[in-house]
Amino acid sequence: MSVANSEIRSLTAKKFDCPQKFSDFCSNGGKPLGGIVGGVETAGTMNATFETIDPGNHQVLATVCEMGAAEVNKAVQAAHNAYSNPKTGWRQTPIEEKIALVMKFVELCERDRDVLLACEIFDGGKVSELAEGDFDQIRACAEYFCDVAKRIPLGDGPSLEVAPGVQGYSYREPWGVVAGIIPWNYPIVLTSWFIFPALLSGNCVLIKPAEDTPLSALYMGKLAEEAGFPPGVINVLPGRGELTGQFIAEHPVVRYISFTGSPGVGQHILRTCDRHGTRMKREMGGNGSAIVLADADPIEVARKIGRYTNQHFGQTCCTIHRVFVDQKIADDFIDAQREFFASLKIGYQADAGTELGAVINSTQKERILSAQQQTVTRGGRALLRGGVAEVTGRSGYYLKPALFQTTPEVDCNPAEVFHAFATICPVSDAEQALQLANQSPYGLGASVWTRDIEHGVALAKQFRDGTCQINCHNQIAYGLPYGGQGISGGPGAGVNCEETFTDYTQVKAVYASQYDA
Ligand code: NAD
Repeated sequence: MSVANSEIRSLTAKKFDCPQKFSDFCSNGGKPLGGIVGGVETAGTMNATFETIDPGNHQVLATVCEMGAAEVNKAVQAAHNAYSNPKTGWRQTPIEEKIALVMKFVELCERDRDVLLACEIFDGGKVSELAEGDFDQIRACAEYFCDVAKRIPLGDGPSLEVAPGVQGYSYREPWGVVAGIIPWNYPIVLTSWFIFPALLSGNCVLIKPAEDTPLSALYMGKLAEEAGFPPGVINVLPGRGELTGQFIAEHPVVRYISFTGSPGVGQHILRTCDRHGTRMKREMGGNGSAIVLADADPIEVARKIGRYTNQHFGQTCCTIHRVFVDQKIADDFIDAQREFFASLKIGYQADAGTELGAVINSTQKERILSAQQQTVTRGGRALLRGGVAEVTGRSGYYLKPALFQTTPEVDCNPAEVFHAFATICPVSDAEQALQLANQSPYGLGASVWTRDIEHGVALAKQFRDGTCQINCHNQIAYGLPYGGQGISGGPGAGVNCEETFTDYTQVKAVYASQYDA
């Protein structure tokens, strides 16, 4: 029997009250919130709007204008003009001025921390402990890329004599107009991860937030104007993916797209971009694994894995959904993990003590319920069956956690589920665990849990994943790449490293020969 270590808990909500400034922003003087195009709030010519709701109680937070082809064209034009003016263009703006504007923007975000937290908590459905950590990424990411921008010069590289009388050198420059297509699960974090390296390397940006969570990007767009970014440098284009997003992907003047989202959508956009040579970086979903070796404490590790599995209720891209545990400790591990999952406090995300809130929308709810059933149909044994949960007085998309036991012969968890959902497979040894973990076509995040760090490191390096961890999971750090292998991402190293900064630039070779005529 397990004895729970109650100090290791899931991320938890403090009570969070709606700040007046957030309500004022959402109500926008009685008008729907427009996109931001060339520094101007724009209702859009399609006359189409959509409502963004709180997933925990289905209340409408704001009505938002959807941007169509005309607004995408206008935003691209505004961004191109802001970029390319030979004297005043963003491209020419000295790096010290760019850094000053970025840091002024960060200060304004910190002044309005409550509003941005409200966006994450009410629009994104997050508990405060996670939302606060996400908010801190704004400054951390900005400071990291300001430092990188000082260290990595653009323009001419060192010159070589490539032949008698012929000098050659590289020339590095921004792409010009770049777009960031953002998913709903980490809006502030992923908007920051996009805009700071893109702007500091000299590009003008289009931000396309997810239709479920447009508020933080729209608010950040307003703060960018207040900070003094020239009109057109930062544009925000809310709308559906297949409409607004598709128009962006089809626009030939958008030279680079940074996409974060699901593999299917990423593959579709890549095909669109390829038709006119737009480069694309893709950070996509995962089906994270954890290997627990026989020397690990099964109870402590089960609770730690439970915490990572339930980060943002399992709606985190690299979250652990597949656990391979040495059969010598499997019984204790399974008991402890079931106990952790079963005791998660399901509730409204802004009520104190909530650990598992509502999922983001009805499509996700149906996908998760279907995956729970499919896991049993494919041969998984339910330890916790999942299903719909009721929260008194709230009408959100609440679901119970689900946990299944499986065997090495049964592949019952093939795709990303995106909830507090995991399969546990007892294995004979580490090699078998590694082989099963690497069978997935995804490759975002994986971890090994053991007291023997050297052995853990040796195993972790053999994962076919972009992030390999020992005795931790879901870690990120600026300076280390965060990206996916397999269908989870590519090309390149990922985000948040020096290579990310250079990804927002293109490089050409220049050859200059003496004039011998
Ligand atoms: P999604 O792929 O459905 O949508 C992502 C974005 O793409 C949204 O803004 C959407 O409007 C847009 N989009 C949809 N169709 C489009 C089209 N035809 N053209 C242009 N844009 C289009 O993903 P989601 O459900 O919003 O987010 C969850 C997914 O994101 C999960 O798979 C998750 O793992 C992944 N994710 C990955 C990372 C990472 O860093 N690897 C981080 C967060 C989330």
